[in-house]
Amino acid sequence: MSFKVAVLPGDGIGPEVTAEAVKVLKATGLSIEFEEAPFGGAGYDDCGEPLPTKTLDLCKASDAILLGAVGGPKWDNLEPITKRPEIGGLLPIRRELNLYANLRPAKTLKPLIHASPLKEGRSMMDLIVVRELTGGIYFGEPRGRRDNGDTAYDTCLYTRAEVDRITRRGFEIALQRGRKLCAVDKSNVLETSRLWREVVTEIATEFPQVSTSFMLIDNCAMQLIRDPGQFDVILTENMFGDILSDEASMITGSLGLLPSASISDPKNGVVFGLYEPVHGSAPDIAGQGRANPLAAILSAAMMLQYTFNDTESALRIENAVEAALNQKLRTADIFEKGTEIITTSEMGDAIVRELMA
Ligand code: NAD
Repeated sequence: MSFKVAVLPGDGIGPEVTAEAVKVLKATGLSIEFEEAPFGGAGYDDCGEPLPTKTLDLCKASDAILLGAVGGPKWDNLEPITKRPEIGGLLPIRRELNLYANLRPAKTLKPLIHASPLKEGRSMMDLIVVRELTGGIYFGEPRGRRDNGDTAYDTCLYTRAEVDRITRRGFEIALQRGRKLCAVDKSNVLETSRLWREVVTEIATEFPQVSTSFMLIDNCAMQLIRDPGQFDVILTENMFGDILSDEASMITGSLGLLPSASISDPKNGVVFGLYEPVHGSAPDIAGQGRANPLAAILSAAMMLQYTFNDTESALRIENAVEAALNQKLRTADIFEKGTEIITTSEMGDAIVRELMA
């Protein structure tokens, strides 16, 4: 089967890390057609819009999107604010493409175990946060101010259909992993959480192979620090997922390592998704060959797993990353005594060498 991938390098270190991810995807030998388009600040410079029509059209005509990062001081003060890369680029692309499921894996890489702020042995972790991305309190109406601005309100709103679709994605992902799903909510206080529990309980009966549990958000925040190894899939709503995924990511030790995926409904059996590193455009190190490309490369591995449904090739990339790190090769952000500092493209080359080995 052949796939078409839209490549949106974006700004800052985005083009540098995306080039390495494409290099690694090409080295897998899979049949992939790549087409590049401007996005973010680069889209504004090229076409006057952070999300040019030709870029959105390319995304719609592709099976998956590989995104670098967007933003930077050059575009921070553009008016109207819809010309700015994040507000006029990132948010609309997610909305336009109905990318409602945000997947953020957090995994301890053995060669980098010292980078974790948790005590060694406590920090072993291999989980994924499945976060609802287009509903909940970030989008609910009404929202606003009254009483001369002295009273503020937001609305947390979920429909059964919204909870149903993300819950199904969560169970499907659990089936591909450790078959354990923990649904996190605040059902002792919130009505929306009680709806989530109802829906998850119903859908769990369709996935008897998956062991389902429930946990309150406050307990989960604590358990992640106490024993992160207990989790496989954490399924949760938008705001809880936002916070828990950042907490989990920090346990791995470096921002330059964290991949993510935002996925939509399957089309003709293919899961459409946007794959991007969690980090931003890092203008402070752009153009210097100092960016860590591993988050972008691991995002490409997620693309193979979720859109290409090719777990074996995804695992080959993950193993190649671990093998390169075992050879004590490091970009500057993860350098430690006794290791060798290499550039962004040298790290990409090292992963390709390991893939071919
Ligand atoms: P950032 O993630 O770009 O950088 C934070 C720090 O981490 C910097 O010191 C940077 O050098 C370092 N860093 C980030 N990625 C790295 C990598 N791969 N290798 C080595 N070091 C890395 O966050 P920021 O500085 O707050 O934001 C910079 C710009 O990126 C802003 O315009 C922001 O709006 C944008 N941003 C974009 C996205 C996105 O495209 N999804 C996400 C976050 C921030």
